[in-house]
Amino acid sequence: MATDQVREYQNYIGGQWVNGATGNTYSISNPAHKSRVLGSFQVSAPQDALDAVAAAQAALPGWAGTPAPVRAQVLYRALAILERRADEIARTITTEEGKPLADARGEVKRAMNIIEYAAGEGRRMFGYTTPSELPSTVAYTVRRPLGVVAIITPWNFPIAIPAWKLAPALICGNALVFKPASGTPLSAVKLVEVFAEAGLPPGVLNLITGPGASVGNALVECAQVNAVSFTGSTEVGTDIYARGARLLKKVQCEMGGKNAVILLADADLDKAVGGIIQGAFGSTGQRCTATSRVIVEEPIYDQFMDRLTRSTSKLKIGDGLDPAVDVSPLSSEYQQEKVMEYIGIGAEEGARLVMGGHALSGGIYDDGYYVEPTIFTDVSLDMRIAQEEIFGPVLTVFKARDLDDAVKISNSVKFGLSSSVYTRDIPRAFRYINTVEAGMVHVNAPTLGGEVHLPFGGLKSSGVGQREQGVEAVDFFSEVITVYIDYADVPRDQARFI
Ligand code: NDP
Repeated sequence: MATDQVREYQNYIGGQWVNGATGNTYSISNPAHKSRVLGSFQVSAPQDALDAVAAAQAALPGWAGTPAPVRAQVLYRALAILERRADEIARTITTEEGKPLADARGEVKRAMNIIEYAAGEGRRMFGYTTPSELPSTVAYTVRRPLGVVAIITPWNFPIAIPAWKLAPALICGNALVFKPASGTPLSAVKLVEVFAEAGLPPGVLNLITGPGASVGNALVECAQVNAVSFTGSTEVGTDIYARGARLLKKVQCEMGGKNAVILLADADLDKAVGGIIQGAFGSTGQRCTATSRVIVEEPIYDQFMDRLTRSTSKLKIGDGLDPAVDVSPLSSEYQQEKVMEYIGIGAEEGARLVMGGHALSGGIYDDGYYVEPTIFTDVSLDMRIAQEEIFGPVLTVFKARDLDDAVKISNSVKFGLSSSVYTRDIPRAFRYINTVEAGMVHVNAPTLGGEVHLPFGGLKSSGVGQREQGVEAVDFFSEVITVYIDYADVPRDQARFI
């Protein structure tokens, strides 16, 4: 591996870039060019996590005591800096995570939108007043920061997901320790640089890189951490939620998905096929909202499969920096192996492989973690490929008798993140909206995405705790305090109180 002139990046604690306690580093490379090393990063120890928490605790009173509209000024400056660095940071996402540059640009834009929205919340940190049942009494609520919050994030949206946690947490006056995924620390460093340049006081945002099992775990277990905002796998999230609950921390976990599109016979097929391909193979299927299943009403099944396979075969696979590329490499060797393992499982389980199914090799493909867009049909509900999150460019297709049968198939998994129906039939669309088990429901649109001023999150094993983004983000990152003021000039009869 070419390691000449590899830059070493540090943790950010108390406003200083510092080495971790172990003295060890690890390096990451471009998933489209395995030999291109992007940098080396601290293998932090639990002690580093505790140092970061101490720095956050020290900074907390000053930041919590800063009026929210003044905090917002820092966020507006961060927004301007991110806009200035947008292209450079989008390229970092592509070279670090692998997704096509257009998707990476969209991700940076999403981060900018959430910072802008959170900054606006600085002037809307609303409580409410309400008439008291007692005379001469004022009753109202006010929001307070939670304190020190741990932010633990996955690799697949290395800028947008941290931004949609950091920005609302900061506007609410919390001090933060940010533990990004070990696979994408460079994007995290750049995001922290943005906030540091924007003038965030030292210690308000701290960054530590290193293994989740030790560093992330230390944050979850630390008594001085008041809350945890986690996005990642259902397995890790379930464990964090349980441990956080035992310590009475406020915890939100956004986790895996197995998102389905239902395609009804009256749908606009051109629109549907485009949305399904974008959902299944865009960002190489490594989105929590990726389309993993299509459930097709029987009368149009053959016609749909014909169009789906014809359009999929035209997708161009290559380095995400090439503007002509539709499907880029998976983000790591581990991801490539995991996806190939699932493809093998699908074949063994008796599903029919109608397209793809191979890791690509030869030419540029030898230098990256490429897997062909893959489609399985004849999938039954008890198969693992029908039930488990694959997190790659693999689509499973089911036949349904009618809408009710399709919703039953859609709801048969433990996940409930995002979902979609394609139909022109308004009553059937509403029946779907009212019965499908998903936190985000789309009609005639892909399972992807969302807007930052609306809540984002899932049901069942896809999410627990308050939703992210939208006004719900402020609900999660603040405590509501109830205030009663008795301004009567005569003593009250205390026996009346509980
Ligand atoms: P992981 O659950 O493996 O990791 C997520 C984060 O948790 C990483 O920073 C990881 O650190 C850290 N971590 C791992 N173990 C622990 C632990 N014991 N205690 C504390 N922290 C820990 O997920 P991935 O990074 O692989 O991300 C992919 C997953 O994220 C998919 O399941 C996807 O669906 C989900 N996701 C969900 C979204 C949603 O909004 N619902 C959005 C995007 C992704 P390290 O990297 O060092 O292991």
